[in-house]
Amino acid sequence: MLKTDVLIIGGGLAGLSAGMALEGRKDYLIAERENRPGGLAATIKKGGYHFDYSGHLLHLRWPETTRLILGALKGNVRRMKRDARVYAHGRWTPYPFQANLSGMPDGVRAECVSGFLKAWRHGGPAAGDGGEVFTRWTRRVFGDGISRHFMLPYNAKLWQYPLSRLTTEWCAPFVPVPKPEDVIAGAYGGKLAALGYNAVFHYPREGGIGALPNAFARRLRGLRLGLEVESVNLKKRVAMVRHFGPVHFRRLINTSPLPSLVAMAEDAPAQVRRAAARLRHNAVYVLNLGVSGAASPMHWGYFPGEEFPFYRAGIATNFSPALAPRGRASFYIETAVPGGALDLASAEAGILRGLKACGLIGSASQAEERLWLKIPCAYVVYNKERTEALPGIFSWLKARGAFSIGRYGSWKYSFMEESVREGLGAAGDILRGR
Ligand SMILES: Cc1cc2nc3c(=O)[nH]c(=O)nc-3n(C[C@H](O)[C@H](O)[C@H](O)COP(=O)(O)OP(=O)(O)OC[C@H]3O[C@@H](n4cnc5c(N)ncnc54)[C@H](O)[C@@H]3O)c2cc1C
Repeated sequence: MLKTDVLIIGGGLAGLSAGMALEGRKDYLIAERENRPGGLAATIKKGGYHFDYSGHLLHLRWPETTRLILGALKGNVRRMKRDARVYAHGRWTPYPFQANLSGMPDGVRAECVSGFLKAWRHGGPAAGDGGEVFTRWTRRVFGDGISRHFMLPYNAKLWQYPLSRLTTEWCAPFVPVPKPEDVIAGAYGGKLAALGYNAVFHYPREGGIGALPNAFARRLRGLRLGLEVESVNLKKRVAMVRHFGPVHFRRLINTSPLPSLVAMAEDAPAQVRRAAARLRHNAVYVLNLGVSGAASPMHWGYFPGEEFPFYRAGIATNFSPALAPRGRASFYIETAVPGGALDLASAEAGILRGLKACGLIGSASQAEERLWLKIPCAYVVYNKERTEALPGIFSWLKARGAFSIGRYGSWKYSFMEESVREGLGAAGDILRGR
């Protein structure tokens, strides 16, 4: 019978960071079901290419986690200024659309600027309150033009959920709201407004983003790959691990998706199960392409138009040329679905047509390597049901002394550094006896 002080479900960045904080201080076991660490921050090798689960760029904002991450990468990292663009009305304009309308046709630009100024005159806080839905928030904050030409079509493609029911607590860190002078300058003065959380980013020079979890994993004596937790009893403090048997623990840190934890918890009360059953998410399919020939210097682009099946496409070799053989480029293209399957053959044909139409590739025959990666639970849906469901689930977990952290464990729209921070935080609480 195996016993551990702290059982950590999942060896993504949240679980690995929790392990780093516990290493040498408390006995712990990280059960990771895959045969590699990193979760969504892993990098897969295929042919001469390294592919991520779409662009995974480090947006560092907190001193402790910045030190930890850059220290683990030990110089294997570059800092870059974002070159992101939006393709709309058959042309490119810099991202963010709302502050950089200079590339748009005259009529679209005028509609967007006048709509923004009209919305701005009506005032109101840029941050939505918890209950405000996206359709209302975007028109109130950005006006009708920017909403119609970018915010509504782009977010409809990304979320795959009715925007009239999507709530807006997630918007503040991810959707920059420019000042009127920035909107006017970005439309007519040719000035680029480098707004938003991702204006500058870090990325490993070599090895893809997987270099980060791999560097963490090398320090962890309690990481076990190929161990899938199948069920857990929080009251009895025991988990069943596939092909392995029971693991007894004192404290649990979960990083698997919150609804999965509830589903596998034998002692979850009925009201907690009902609450978890109300949580929704989309799925994202990432087509990674290795291509011959030169590519645009941009890092990534957003595609609001219906004629493109994907919402975003990026060129990973512009973060790190080492991701592809010399003279080759690699692309990642993200397509969201509400759940279920995507017809990969027709999706791929649509993607290649789209990349050609916007000029990112000259011909489909340039594609020489392909890797489809599915992210079954990609973006958690913010809606009234989520707001109502989470407090009950988390108060049950708290009463059992269990933590559920990370992007999916805490069921939110967050980024890698936040998963690292939550891992350190949960482990710190356990070390302090909380
Ligand atoms: C399309 C997309 C693009 C993104 N781009 C960025 C970006 O550019 N920058 C950024 O900072 N963030 C980005 N993110 C977010 C980033 O991926 C996450 O914040 C972070 O990687 C999540 O780490 P985690 O450890 O919380 O979860 P995960 O990476 O999901 O790790 C959870 C781990 O638990 C394991 N697991 C699950 N169930 C079990 C079980 N029962 N037993 C054992 N193991 C289990 C899984 O295999 C996985 O390894 C992006 C996310 C998506 C979907």
